[in-house]
Amino acid sequence: MGQALSNLDPPLLQVDGLTKHFPIKSALGRTVGTVKAVNGVSFQLSKGETFGLVGESGCGKSTLGRTLLRLIEPTAGKALYEGIDLFALGKRELNRYRQHMQMVFQDPYTSMDPRKRIGYTLEEPLKIHSIGNQAERTDKALSLLRKVGFSEEHYDRFPHEFSGGQRQRIGIARAIALGPQLIVCDEPVSALDVSIQSQVINLLEEVQQELGVSYLFIAHDLSVVRHIADRIGVMYLGEMVEQAPTDELFHRPLHPYTQSLLAAVPIPDPRAKRERIELQGEPPSPLHPPKGCVFHPRCPYAMAVCREAEPQKTTVSAGHEVQCHLYE
Ligand code: SF4
Repeated sequence: MGQALSNLDPPLLQVDGLTKHFPIKSALGRTVGTVKAVNGVSFQLSKGETFGLVGESGCGKSTLGRTLLRLIEPTAGKALYEGIDLFALGKRELNRYRQHMQMVFQDPYTSMDPRKRIGYTLEEPLKIHSIGNQAERTDKALSLLRKVGFSEEHYDRFPHEFSGGQRQRIGIARAIALGPQLIVCDEPVSALDVSIQSQVINLLEEVQQELGVSYLFIAHDLSVVRHIADRIGVMYLGEMVEQAPTDELFHRPLHPYTQSLLAAVPIPDPRAKRERIELQGEPPSPLHPPKGCVFHPRCPYAMAVCREAEPQKTTVSAGHEVQCHLYE
């Protein structure tokens, strides 16, 4: 977990109403529908903090991460980074801010050129941002390799000569090359064996201790997020249905969807009991989200109001918000 500054410090990132809709076009170019991938999501992230984002695949969490860094353009909302709205920046200004915000991908191989040596992969971001001369960039690449547990001899190797876990360590080295303050980690350990997952998580934690970087950590595995996150946001069908400090969320999950996700996580204490809610069916398509509460077709507590009216966000305790009619 990170060492977030106190609540009195302004957040590093304040996201308000982030929305990303994808139009569906017919063969003639007419818009025939809209995929509502992310719908009005708000949260904040402090310096040195890790915010975990969880939910089933297709809930919009990866789209949210990519929209935040403007790898895809938002439909609406604000993302204030140290008070500056990232969504309002022109191309040139955005490039300057990109140094501060990086991404670690699920499969780092996709962001590496298989024909280029690892030294080149690590020097490339410095070159793009015109940082240092060639000798300085090489020194930096070597120091990054050492930081993530490699030696200088790895500088001349190619991506295919590394295992999945090793490539993820290189992905992290590349992400920190420019000294960012925010890293979006998109399912960074999902494709790795459990034994390798903890090595990568430990490396992310070491990097955070050393550089004070903040993470938006996206994952579908709640046990992984529990280990690394200070706070957790739960997404369902493009909406953030609950967010809370990590311990609070695990001990007092309120939203029926959060309860169902937690029911699938093993409890370390065999005497402890947890109410089991089993999810019925698949999530509806974001092309046709249900009216009212988007979770109502799968919710065992659904009431008449849930089928008609969208629940509003309710703050139940410090930092714990839930979007459900049961708590309004
Ligand atoms: Fe269930 Fe209603 Fe709460 Fe939605 S608003 S989660 S349907 S109880």
